[in-house]
Amino acid sequence: MPRVITFGCRLNALESEILRENAQKLGLRDVILINSCAVTAEAERQVRQAVRKAIREHPDRRVIVTGCSVDIDLKPYLEIPGVVGVLPNARKLDVEALRPFCKQAETKDCEGQFSYPASRARAYVAIQNGCNHFCSYCIIPHTRGKSHSMPLEKILFDVRAAVQKGYIEVVLTGIDIAAYGKEEELTLGRLVSHILQEVPDLPQLRLSSLDPAAIDNDLLQAFATEERLMPHVHLSLQSMSTSVLKAMRRRHTQKSALDMCYSLRKARPDIVLGADLIAGFPTETEADFEETLKTLPALRLAFLHAFPYSKRPNTLAATMLDLSRSVILERARRLRLFAHEALQICLQQHIGQTLPVLIEHPLKGRTPHFMHVTWKEPVHAQSLIPMHITGCQEEALVATFSKECSTHLIL
Ligand code: SF4
Repeated sequence: MPRVITFGCRLNALESEILRENAQKLGLRDVILINSCAVTAEAERQVRQAVRKAIREHPDRRVIVTGCSVDIDLKPYLEIPGVVGVLPNARKLDVEALRPFCKQAETKDCEGQFSYPASRARAYVAIQNGCNHFCSYCIIPHTRGKSHSMPLEKILFDVRAAVQKGYIEVVLTGIDIAAYGKEEELTLGRLVSHILQEVPDLPQLRLSSLDPAAIDNDLLQAFATEERLMPHVHLSLQSMSTSVLKAMRRRHTQKSALDMCYSLRKARPDIVLGADLIAGFPTETEADFEETLKTLPALRLAFLHAFPYSKRPNTLAATMLDLSRSVILERARRLRLFAHEALQICLQQHIGQTLPVLIEHPLKGRTPHFMHVTWKEPVHAQSLIPMHITGCQEEALVATFSKECSTHLIL
């Protein structure tokens, strides 16, 4: 069986499934495909480490590297003895790009660009790729090119295919999904409503990360009216200091981010918010960082992912003077402390409720708000069970379920 090792975002995870299917179609049983990420220097270091490990531990396999890190510079990979090939991002989903690695090939037409990994409770559907924004710290526009949306019919085809495969939840993913449809005056909000209208038997639809500056009335309307749209939004916030946001070339301000969170909660009162934040951006002073820490509580975030700033080649921020590594890591540590406390507050607010839980593992699952849940008796994965939240432990809710649900039990 071809093996695929994935780094990075949900879009990469989805593309890895397609890489696996394409390799299987061509009978490439002896390959290890490494789908790389370049969002941070650390991510690239881990990719190179994985390449060497795969070659060392599997001398009988041929290693092929693809993904964003290859697009930045493929030379370091070609110089690793044992790497038999590299694939640029733009070609990685094309089954023909793998044919040169075939000893003997047989092919069938590639169907859509969707995947429903066996192990997961949810299916990812790509609706958009690329980005037009060039935030000063980000390498992605250099590796994934201009923003482009997938055709509506194809998205509907992928969602229907996932439902036919028994998936309960579909996650719409991409690089900048809020830019969906800009080419044709469509919007993400209208797409959501259209999918839910056209695929009435899809139980749950979720969105991957959103640019706070691009959440429009259509999307707020969808959150207000579409019960099957999950009440959870993860924002690519990056900072809450107005001067740092400017230096990052982000399109939102501290005030517009606060207003957006208020509008999301007005549209969907039980919505749970999360955010990505970068710690130690080159121009960030201690006062800027304090401004971020001071403003965060007003957002009432449940999930906060703190990323130490990582200089990326050919970005505007790479020309700026870096802060010391110790300051960067210290600020990330303080953000993670805040994140832990914020999550505890949100977990407490869910105790006593009865919520539908998507079972990801016999003893683990997620609520519509994306909160982790655990329970005692193992149940069949890929089902949706109403559970009563009785408490919380570490970073998860603890639940019990009624006897009526005992049909789901793994006996
Ligand atoms: S919006 Fe900014 S951070 Fe996000 S992918 Fe585009 S350039 Fe990168």
